[in-house]
Amino acid sequence: MTSSAPSVVSARNLCLTYETNDGPVHALSNVDLDVRKGDFVSFIGPSGCGKTTFLRVIADLERKTSGDITVNGMTPEEARTNRAYGYVFQAAALYPWRTIEKNIALPLEIMGYAKSDQAKRIEQTLDLVNLTGFAHKYPWQLSGGMQQRASIARALAFDADLLLMDEPFGALDEIVRDHLNEALLKLWKRTNKTICFVTHSIPEAVYLSTKIVVMSPRPGRVTDVIESTLPHERPLGIRETPEFLEIAHRVRDGLRAGHSYEE
Ligand code: ADP
Ligand code: MG
Repeated sequence: MTSSAPSVVSARNLCLTYETNDGPVHALSNVDLDVRKGDFVSFIGPSGCGKTTFLRVIADLERKTSGDITVNGMTPEEARTNRAYGYVFQAAALYPWRTIEKNIALPLEIMGYAKSDQAKRIEQTLDLVNLTGFAHKYPWQLSGGMQQRASIARALAFDADLLLMDEPFGALDEIVRDHLNEALLKLWKRTNKTICFVTHSIPEAVYLSTKIVVMSPRPGRVTDVIESTLPHERPLGIRETPEFLEIAHRVRDGLRAGHSYEE
């Protein structure tokens, strides 16, 4: 939020190259970035620019090729063992044979939380995402937006300070997405989480973020980092204000500047 808040993710000269049969793919090239406690950071850029790769490096699901990255001041591996983050995928990825409650319980079971603690956490997170009363439903009995909320609840259930969200609302229609954007902002304010959020949508990035990271492909680089000047209180109507449109314009410029037209 402020430059004095503790660092949650810090990347310096971060590079990641995938070795493939067709040769190396430079997914991330010299990425420098600081995410601070309480930040809502959006990553925006064309498909293939390394957004998912960056989240996966934070989560210790991929290893850097060179450079430095810390998560809560630790290596990603240490942070993972300390349960530093919750991960929300593009598809809700709920198990169809488990009820909503049992889906949320899954990471808690794996982490060995006591049954009574599990029940308390499930109740609290269902309330946070406004799904109280749906605990005993199966995923297919819920709408797409509700399923995605359940998957956010699952990521919140074990109290990680950091939420990694990879295009969580990308597959939803615009009305549902608007609604979830509002809900997510409220939840972020209530819980004081730090959020890294990948999106393709300029309005979504501008509406949600304290900081917008614009990326370009081949090799994946950060081309602009925009600190939002919007107030924290954001009714949906803020999207018509000149201040909002100005930030959106700068994001669009950044995307255009970073785009290669050689293909
Ligand atoms: P984004 O999420 O921005 O669409 P990704 O991080 O998924 O981009 O991918 C960045 C680049 O790395 C792309 O060119 C993609 O094809 C490549 N890539 C991603 N994962 C792998 C992998 N496991 N092996 C080889 N190449 C990969
Ligand atoms: Mg991706």
